Amino acid sequence: MVSTMLPLPEFFPVSRIEWWRSRGMHYVCPATGHLVSNPEGRGCPEHGVKLFLNCRVCRKPWKLVSESMYSSRATDGAKFCRFCFTPAPWLGRRELMAWVRHQVQADGGLSEGERAELVAVLDRIKDMEPSDGNAVPGWRRLHDLAPKVFAATKPVREALMSEGVRRALDALFG
Ligand SMILES: [Zn+2]
Ligand SMILES: [Zn+2]
Repeated sequence: MVSTMLPLPEFFPVSRIEWWRSRGMHYVCPATGHLVSNPEGRGCPEHGVKLFLNCRVCRKPWKLVSESMYSSRATDGAKFCRFCFTPAPWLGRRELMAWVRHQVQADGGLSEGERAELVAVLDRIKDMEPSDGNAVPGWRRLHDLAPKVFAATKPVREALMSEGVRRALDALFG
């Protein structure tokens, strides 16, 4: 099979990361986001998990970024899908809660009062344990005022709340 990843001509205005991507296959490890270039199998030998190339939701190529201070060579997968905004699998609860807060901040359908209320609600939830049932009314408020944001949190809800809290929420909407 002929490779479609031919080297680009010198004058082609691509970022160095895109150029480097054209040099081979760079898979992202879901454990920490580090890259494995041209792996022998499909797994990360360091973390024992399956590597990925594409977003798990929209299936488009996951963006590579450089975390190196000394070169623009890609070192890691980006924190979010650049197409559908799905968060990377290595983000923790703190980063995911910040992501939900940012969705609320970006939701044009909310009044200023609703936005301020939800931001305050999320700031309270973020300091609670995932198993804390006191978070249920807060999640419910998010569901009622910003249903699109609530729906967008579905793929990460396991990281944000324990099984018990999720059941209590489901029972409310049952
Ligand atoms: Zn790994
Ligand atoms: Zn995506």
